[in-house]
Amino acid sequence: MSAKTLKGETLLIATHNKGKLEEFRQIFGPRGVEVTSAGERGLGEPAETENTFIGNARIKATAAMEASGLITIADDSGLCVDALDGAPGVYTADWAGPSRDWTMAMRTVEEKLQAKGATTPAARRATFNCTLVVLWPDGSERIFVGQAPGYLTWPPRGQLGHGYDPMFVPDGGNGRTFAELTADEKNAISHRARALDLLMKELL
Ligand code: IMP
Repeated sequence: MSAKTLKGETLLIATHNKGKLEEFRQIFGPRGVEVTSAGERGLGEPAETENTFIGNARIKATAAMEASGLITIADDSGLCVDALDGAPGVYTADWAGPSRDWTMAMRTVEEKLQAKGATTPAARRATFNCTLVVLWPDGSERIFVGQAPGYLTWPPRGQLGHGYDPMFVPDGGNGRTFAELTADEKNAISHRARALDLLMKELL
């Protein structure tokens, strides 16, 4: 068991997404960890060619760590629907097409569920997954996985959040969708918050 810590370090978040960066910065800043990102440093975005969350997070972490020489965190996340054998999974963003049409992506999921005759909440179980890979320049690696289980509802409800939030009813959310929860409420039970909790317990 090594005594790796992030305290006092500068951390690179392997993302070009400003929202994600802000989320990480809010968590690490108050704990004395300086945060920068692949986007802020003008680093490239590698193709996500693996078929697992860990594989794709590792691709992003490796590219950004090698380009920056900094301790790097990458995340890969997605929605896994039980009745669809885990789809869309690592292809969660792809189902929204190049223009990132989330209404279309949600409709695709719904049509596939209808085709399976999945009409009850029990038949429509799904899980949001977030995998975090932390990579040090010496090659050390830690992986943290957070999950938010729930079920998919139709039609979509709520104006907050992003992506598939309006059709996802998380366990512990009093029947509301992710898009009907405030950011604080979502952060208390989300897959990303859970993965980050595990990371902080071990590394901060
Ligand atoms: P990536 O992890 O940035 O490669 O993309 C994962 C995709 O999963 C995102 O583009 C979203 O569509 C979806 N996703 C991940 N987390 C959430 C969430 O909390 N709510 C809704 N959609 C999410």
